[in-house]
Amino acid sequence: MSRRKTRPRTSRAAAAPAPAVTATSPCPCGLDATYGACCGRFHSGAGGTAPTAELLMRSRYSAFVVRDEAYLLRTWAPETRPGEVDFDPGMRWAGLEIEETGEGTAFHQHGTVTFTARYVHGGEAGALHERSRFARHEGAWVYVDGDFLD
Ligand SMILES: [Zn+2]
Repeated sequence: MSRRKTRPRTSRAAAAPAPAVTATSPCPCGLDATYGACCGRFHSGAGGTAPTAELLMRSRYSAFVVRDEAYLLRTWAPETRPGEVDFDPGMRWAGLEIEETGEGTAFHQHGTVTFTARYVHGGEAGALHERSRFARHEGAWVYVDGDFLD
C-alpha cells in the first residue's frame, strides 16, 4: 500500500454540494456510457423505467451520487419506503461493483443484486457490501430491502 499525501482540506461547505455530474459525464454507476445515456435517462424519466433489477440498482446508486431524492423514493417499495432520504454531506460515493444478480430480468417478478459500493466518508475509505432485494410494483422494478454481507 502506498501512502499518498492528502491534500489540505478546504472548507466543509465545499464538500456539501452534489458532485457535478452532467449528461456527458461518465455514468457514476460504472457502465461504459455517459450519465445521460445510462442512469440519467431513468432519473429524468426520458428512458422509462429500468428494465432489470441490476439496472435499477445501478440507477439508484447513481441517484445517491447526484442526490436525486425523488428518484430514490419513487423506486422504493411502498412498504419499506422512508419519508425522505437523508444525504450525508460528508459522504462521497466512489464506485459500484455488481458481483452477482439473481433473477430480476424482464421475465421475473423478484430479483436480488449483490454489490459493493465504495465511498470516502470524512477522509476514510470504506465499502458497503450488500445483497439487495427488488420486486415489481405496478410493473416497474423497486428496491425492497437488503442485507449487509460484512
Ligand atoms: Zn449508469
